[in-house]
Amino acid sequence: MAKILCVLYPDPKTGYPPKYARDDIPVISVYPNGQTVPSPRGELGFKPGELIGCVSGELGLRPYLEAHGHELIVTSDKEDANSEFDRHLPDADVVISQPFWPAYLTAERIAKARKLKLALTAGIGSDHVDLKAAAEHGITVAEETFSNSISVAEHVVMMVLSLVRNYLPAHEIANKGGWDIADCVSRSYDLEGMHFGTVGSGRIGLAVLKRLKPFDVHLHYHSRHHLPADVEKELNLTYHATPQELVKVCDVVNLQMPLYPSTEKMFDDRMFALMKRGTYLINTARGALCDRDAVVRALESGQLAGYAGDVWFPQPAPADHPWRTMPNQGMTPHMSGSSLSGQARYAAGTLEILQDFFEGRPIRPEYLIVDRGQLAGTGAASYKFT
Ligand code: NDP
Repeated sequence: MAKILCVLYPDPKTGYPPKYARDDIPVISVYPNGQTVPSPRGELGFKPGELIGCVSGELGLRPYLEAHGHELIVTSDKEDANSEFDRHLPDADVVISQPFWPAYLTAERIAKARKLKLALTAGIGSDHVDLKAAAEHGITVAEETFSNSISVAEHVVMMVLSLVRNYLPAHEIANKGGWDIADCVSRSYDLEGMHFGTVGSGRIGLAVLKRLKPFDVHLHYHSRHHLPADVEKELNLTYHATPQELVKVCDVVNLQMPLYPSTEKMFDDRMFALMKRGTYLINTARGALCDRDAVVRALESGQLAGYAGDVWFPQPAPADHPWRTMPNQGMTPHMSGSSLSGQARYAAGTLEILQDFFEGRPIRPEYLIVDRGQLAGTGAASYKFT
C-alpha cells in the first residue's frame, strides 16, 4: 500500500472534459531509434487522445492504483510550504510531476520527503528534481524517454517558420481587420538558404534537423559528441566543437540540450554578442538555459530578430515575467510536449514505470535518470551533477 502524490496542471478554464477537435490520434508503435512505445500491462485508464495531463485527467492512473490498494492524491497546488503538495510530501512513496507544471523537488523538499522512493517525471526533462540530492537519498528518478520528443520537434519547426516569416504579427493584423501588407512583410523572410544550427542534437535536436532538411537550409549542430558519420553525411551537417563557433555562422539557433548546473545561463550577453545581428533563437529545452534579462536586451537592441519558445523559469511564469512583453517574441506557456498525442504516450509510460516499480520488475534503462545513488540509464548520458 503506497501513497502516490501526483502534481498536474489545472483543468481547462472552459471545463473538463473539453470538446475534442478530433475523434482519434494516429497509432505510433515505435520511435525513430527503434525504441518501442510504452507497453503497460492491462487496461489503460484513458482513451488515447483524451486530455489526461490536467488534474481531472489524473494521467488515467486511478483505476490501476486503486485496484492495487494504493492511495492517489492529485493536485495542482504546489507553490509554497502550505501547498497541498508540501502537506502530502512527508509521507508520499512516489511523486509524479510534469515539466509543464513542475513541482520543484529541491534539496530542502527532498530532505522532508522521508518515505520517497520514486520521483517520476510525466514527460521528459527531470531538472525540476535536484538530481544530486535525489541520488544521495536513494530516490530513483525516471521519465518516459522519447514519449514527446517528436511533439517538441514539430513545435520547433513551427516556431522557426513563424519567426522567420513573421507569421504571428501578420495574423494579429488580420484578426484586427487590417490589410497592411507592408507591415506584414517588412520583417518577413524565406528560410530557404539560411543557416540553421542546433545546440544539442539528441532525440529532439536530430528530429528537428531531419525535418528542416527539405527546406534547403544549411544544417549545423553542436553537442559534446559527434552524431554517427552516416547521419552527418545524409543531412550534410556541419559540426561545431563549441556553441560559440556555431552561433557565429547561423541565422537561426535552436537550444535542445538538458538543463544542469553547467548549462544554466549558457546563453547570455556574451553569447548573444557573438551572433550575427538579426539571429532568431528558439528554446523549447529549458528557460534557465538563457539569462532572462540578456534575452530581453538582445531583442530590444535588434541583436536577436526574434525569440520563440515555451519554457520559462520559474513555471508557471509570473504575470510580469519580461518574456511575456518583450518585442518580436512568439512565447507560449509550456505546451509543446503536452499535445494530446504526447500525453497519451507519457501517461502510458508513467503507468508502465509504476507497474514495474510496484510489481518488482526493473524499470527500462532508457527511462532511468537516477538509480542506486547515481545517474543511470538515459540520465547518465544526458545529465551531470555539476
Ligand atoms: P537528449 O538527451 O536526447 O539530447 C540532449 C542533447 O544535448 C544531446 O545531443 C547531448 O549530446 C547534448 N548536450 C548535453 N549536454 C550538452 C552540453 N553541455 N553542451 C552541448 N550539448 C549538450 O534529450 P532530448 O532531445 O530528448 O531533450 C532535450 C531537452 O529538451 C530535455 O532535456 C528537456 O529539457 C527538453 N524537453 C522539452 C520539452 C517541452 O515540452 N518543451 C519536452 C521534452 C524535452 P552530448 O552528450 O554529445 O553533448
